[in-house]
Amino acid sequence: MPELPAILPQRHFIDGAFRDGVSGETFETLNPTTNAPIAEVSAGTAADVDAAVTAARRAFDEGPWPRMTAKERAKALRGIAGLIRERAQEFIALECLDIGMPIAQMKGLAARAAENFDYFANVVEELHGRAWQTGGFLNYSVHKPVGVAGLIMPWNAPLMLSTWRIAPCLAAGNTIVLKPAEWSPLTATALARLLADAGLPEGVFNVVHGFGETAGAPLSAHPGVDLICFTGEGRTGEIIMAAGAPTLKRCSFELGGKSPVVVFDDAGADFERLVDAVVFQIFSMNGQRCTAGSRLLAQQGIYDRLVEAVAERAKRIRVGDPFDATTELGPLIRPEHHERVLGYVREAADGGARLLAGGDRPAGLPEGNYLQATVLADVEPSMRAFREEIFGPVLVATPFADEEEAVRLANDTEYGLAAYVWTNDLTRAHRVAQAIDTGLCWVNSQNVRDLRTPFGGVKRSGIGREGGDYSFEFYCEQETIHVALGEHRIPRLGVG
Ligand code: NAD
Repeated sequence: MPELPAILPQRHFIDGAFRDGVSGETFETLNPTTNAPIAEVSAGTAADVDAAVTAARRAFDEGPWPRMTAKERAKALRGIAGLIRERAQEFIALECLDIGMPIAQMKGLAARAAENFDYFANVVEELHGRAWQTGGFLNYSVHKPVGVAGLIMPWNAPLMLSTWRIAPCLAAGNTIVLKPAEWSPLTATALARLLADAGLPEGVFNVVHGFGETAGAPLSAHPGVDLICFTGEGRTGEIIMAAGAPTLKRCSFELGGKSPVVVFDDAGADFERLVDAVVFQIFSMNGQRCTAGSRLLAQQGIYDRLVEAVAERAKRIRVGDPFDATTELGPLIRPEHHERVLGYVREAADGGARLLAGGDRPAGLPEGNYLQATVLADVEPSMRAFREEIFGPVLVATPFADEEEAVRLANDTEYGLAAYVWTNDLTRAHRVAQAIDTGLCWVNSQNVRDLRTPFGGVKRSGIGREGGDYSFEFYCEQETIHVALGEHRIPRLGVG
């Protein structure tokens, strides 16, 4: 493990300063490799949320940030990207410690956090309205920031996921109150310090730590908040949307998934590449990944060979300390999550699924929340392991006979975030990709993001799209201005 800076108590960041919570209550964030406490964290309440929203409101209504030109804000964002790169080692270490992400994978996520700021700096500089000339009028639209955004974030990749929202939100000229997940507060505090060092005006970026029910709930209901960006579970999204309804908050929701990897018999030409993708898409990021390819649907002709090969690879995945550069799978976030994930495995195995790999704590790792990479074959569509998001390193595999059955199984879920289709038949690839109810589909590939493309889910996987210009449809208002050129006839009333 690298030398870490002393980890101070994690305090709220409000109006440009770190503060204890009004209640003085704290909780502990735990190291998932031992479940020993890492740091005390302020447990935010409605009073802290109110102070943060008041600061963000003032920064929006009176401060310079929304009034700066897009070019000026873009420059600030590029400065933030540069600082993230400078402090990458600190961010990587904090997040590996807090959530157990393998360090080799965390390096890519930290690089992506910096890229989020650089990328949206470029997009906002190019953002432009439209103009419509009609008889006697010039009509045009302009982008304006919306106001104060409440960002409520999950624990699975907090730095990458929060910067994916923070960067376009700030680029558009909004101000922010971030509520990180209670299980992963460390990089949010470090980010608050970094944004202050980058020279963001006071109140533009605020952090309130704490639990969903006591800090997230007052944020999602606060009348001073205009936008809610939420990444997390659908059930939480329902509560947040209801809380925001009386003040008609605009919502962008990135929710759960149970994404299918649909493999046709003819996909075996480059079998090793296929196995690489199936294994990577479920076991990277400790399996705690919203776009995980968690359901392997394979045609009968390739099914046995593929599940055997994937299981053999799963058995060889290196599970261990997130700070070991060779680790491929770290611990799950919490003991209760570990227990929950194992519960799905046991239930499926008891129900007749074949446990081909994993299913238990790895030998030699008696403490912490470690779980072997797990593969379950012959999982029935009626089983909970097929239907529900497990959010851990567990792949369920189910065979299909033909294209019609493949599409039916792929769509037999309440989720629709990502899908992965593998075939060498060109027309089938396009046909099946379009037939699956999903926000994102990759053909003959793992998840490779292009930040210009719309990202988001259908069904219970989300509401809205972000990425490229799409982000600014959410983070901006568009005002239409109709300018009379003085030529059109105005109907005359009251002239007799
Ligand atoms: P979660 O819904 O339990 O918690 C997310 C956040 O909501 C946390 O900050 C939590 O404190 C807060 N929260 C909880 N109850 C609240 C309430 N009543 N009011 C306001 N806020 C509340 O989700 P999680 O377990 O942290 O994250 C895992 C989930 O996130 C998975 O379902 C995963 O698929 C999803 N996810 C989706 C994406 C995506 O891009 N679609 C990305 C990452 C994670």
